[in-house]
Amino acid sequence: MEERVSLDAPWARLMPLVQAAGDRIVDFLQRLVRVPSLTGDEAAVAALVEAELHTLGIGDTAVDASGNVLGHLAGASRHQTMLHAHLDVVDPSDPGLWTYAPFAGQLAEGHIWGRGSADDKGSVAAQVYALGLLHQAGLIPPGDVLLAAVVGEEIGGLGSRFLSRGRLPDIAIIGEPSSNTLRRGHRGRFEFIVTFHGRSAHASAPHLGCNPNHALARFITALDEAPMAQDSDFGDTTAVPTLLHVDQTSSNVIPAAASVHLDWRNAPGESLQAARDLLDGLIARCLEPGITAEVRLASRKVESYTGMSQTVEHAGTPFWIAADDPRVLQAQRALQRTLGRAVPVDVWTFFTDGGFLYAAGAPCIGFGPGDPAMAHVKDERISVQQLFEATAGYMALALAMGAPQGA
Ligand SMILES: [Zn+2]
Repeated sequence: MEERVSLDAPWARLMPLVQAAGDRIVDFLQRLVRVPSLTGDEAAVAALVEAELHTLGIGDTAVDASGNVLGHLAGASRHQTMLHAHLDVVDPSDPGLWTYAPFAGQLAEGHIWGRGSADDKGSVAAQVYALGLLHQAGLIPPGDVLLAAVVGEEIGGLGSRFLSRGRLPDIAIIGEPSSNTLRRGHRGRFEFIVTFHGRSAHASAPHLGCNPNHALARFITALDEAPMAQDSDFGDTTAVPTLLHVDQTSSNVIPAAASVHLDWRNAPGESLQAARDLLDGLIARCLEPGITAEVRLASRKVESYTGMSQTVEHAGTPFWIAADDPRVLQAQRALQRTLGRAVPVDVWTFFTDGGFLYAAGAPCIGFGPGDPAMAHVKDERISVQQLFEATAGYMALALAMGAPQGA
């Protein structure tokens, strides 16, 4: 099938526009990294993003009730492409372990170093400049482009949960590190707490109690041997026991309760109910007289700098889109023409906010600068070359995604 390529296609113009603005893009990312923005403390970095959008001529901005920064570039139709990335970062732990201080925003060896440089402020900087450079060049996308720089991604997803209750985009581009390749989804994540209840007694007289540790042990063994949902594309479901707790602090007392946290990464085809059913079946096999059990999702209260707070359950659904979906192919064509190289399509191993948008009904595709292995580690850094490529890439996606298929 022959592709229709307009003679005035803008792809070749994008990288030169980015190169000409290169110093400003680097400077902006350095300034973003220099503002520590742990989850719940994104006010200053949000203000910086909104101010930069204004400087670039994007006047139509807002901060929503959860603290997300939104920037709008009007297109030729109501089709909406969302460029999505997050403002919060994880703790850098001991700064002394870093080659450059984690919040210095050091430029060295062709990289910008620091906590958040790759996860996820590189994507934020590239998306802000993509919007600004399109506007300044007078390139009008076929549909509206909404930039969403969200809060709370690292703990609970408050910003994206709020966003997904509003108008949903026709397509969301999830900016998380992918080394500028396309990602068509990831597994979901549930955090279950399985608790076995028995009867406490002095450990010198075990016949007077019902020790839940035995059932817990049988359960962990049974889980290890249980057949898990399979998925050749995204990887099989994994269920990993992590934290163990009992309700006692004395080593000479039989506990009344023993629990285990399960980090459950579900393949796209497996629902929360299916996971629960599997757990219920395993638990039933592990019980004995005097022992009962319950399963619940872990939950926690999350709070935004705006004062919004919510108790959220640790349940994030996968997102996925078919490898041959026309929107994936359209994104791939636009990126390949703009970057002048092959852009492969893969999946992410980790969870992203795309899960919340997808669960609400928005199709998602992943694309972002930075090496995924740099997320949450010391000496996190991002290649300046990838930052520039991603900026041109987001411009290309903004110009491609609302266009008729095949354009
Ligand atoms: Zn991230």
